[in-house]
Amino acid sequence: MPRSDVAGRVGRPGAGTGSGSRAAGIALLVLGAVLMGVVAVTTPWNALGPGAPEVRPDPARDFTPAQLARADAFDAATSLPGYLSLALTLVIAGVLVLTPVGARLIGRIRGPWWVRAILGVLGVYVVSLLLRWPLGMWMETVLREYGLSTQTWGTWTADRLKNFGLQIVLSGVAVLVIVALARKWPRTWWIPASLGAFTLTVVLSFAYPVVVEPMFNTFTPLPAGQLRADLLAMAAKDGVPVKDVLVADASRRTTALNAYVSGFGATRRIVVYDTLVSQPADEVKLIVAHELGHAKRDDVLYGTLVGALGAAAGTCLLFIAVQALRRRAGVSSAGDPRAVGLLVGLISLGTVLSGPAQNVVSRQIEARADAHALDLTRDPATFVAMQKSLAVRNISDLSPNALEYLLYASHPSTAERIAMARSWAGLNGLPRP
Ligand SMILES: [Zn+2]
Repeated sequence: MPRSDVAGRVGRPGAGTGSGSRAAGIALLVLGAVLMGVVAVTTPWNALGPGAPEVRPDPARDFTPAQLARADAFDAATSLPGYLSLALTLVIAGVLVLTPVGARLIGRIRGPWWVRAILGVLGVYVVSLLLRWPLGMWMETVLREYGLSTQTWGTWTADRLKNFGLQIVLSGVAVLVIVALARKWPRTWWIPASLGAFTLTVVLSFAYPVVVEPMFNTFTPLPAGQLRADLLAMAAKDGVPVKDVLVADASRRTTALNAYVSGFGATRRIVVYDTLVSQPADEVKLIVAHELGHAKRDDVLYGTLVGALGAAAGTCLLFIAVQALRRRAGVSSAGDPRAVGLLVGLISLGTVLSGPAQNVVSRQIEARADAHALDLTRDPATFVAMQKSLAVRNISDLSPNALEYLLYASHPSTAERIAMARSWAGLNGLPRP
């Protein structure tokens, strides 16, 4: 274990806290202020701009009582496994962070520090995987009952194990690097770790479409024909250079409809689910017009840079939290291989707690992409029809409660998106759908 850590806790005269927390705290404040400033200034808080008429979101106006009841029933059936899964994450993280249980279990492993750290990380993730397995099966069973999942238990298990492998490679390696850095620089490891977190976030987001997505789906160019010609013509009219629209074989997993943009620069791509291609062409065009809005504004690049700043700030916070909680968690420092449980627990807590803040910003960016789709197509009636068919097909939560909205809503609700289309129509002098 690094001896300098003990010296750090005693503190040299005039060396401030001596544990390095003061410098990390100042860096956290600076990065946090930059992050808040960038988000406050660049987030489109009012997507339609001033003068748009107020339209109240009202799901009962566009959906039948049967559709509303089905959405409520599906929401009720998925809420319980969803909340239990969240609670399990918090409990596991809480035990790792606030008690010495993780350190004691990992302390039984023998060998050089890196063997103990690797086996410790593997152990923590395997236990977590096994504990949440039944909840995953429960959720998958509900999706099948409602006809949303097309998976067999074989393909479901394969997907889950692939996700698990990915988590081990990404988070596991990050944790091991932190332990190694902390052994070398007990009081300043947060500096290289923050730079590493920033760089890793950018590199991962860039490489994601070409490295990670192909592990889960096969992508083929949208076949030549009227739809492809129309979509590429719309992109050209919009001034967004799009070489290709890719189709993902999402139907091997789900019946849901979706499309997305991922990557940036050389890896940027617009992807539509194969389930979407057979939908009415006007609705597909509107969905792709929304994605063009993301592409035109470089939302993925912007989100990546904000996320990278957040990761760097989060690493400073991680250092401070480790200094504050190490004794409670039964370890001497982050360089102690038994600290991997504390690190995994803190990272997991940080991920869960930052989710609602990310959703607040994401909802505004999604609203701007919706406004872009309306500006480009000038077809609010089809926009409303498209939102309705998406919501019915995907069994979207039509009236999310405040907690669900806070935790899960990366997009405005369907009723909000429809209300915005009506407001857009009012603003542009077109008949309100
Ligand atoms: Zn979007």
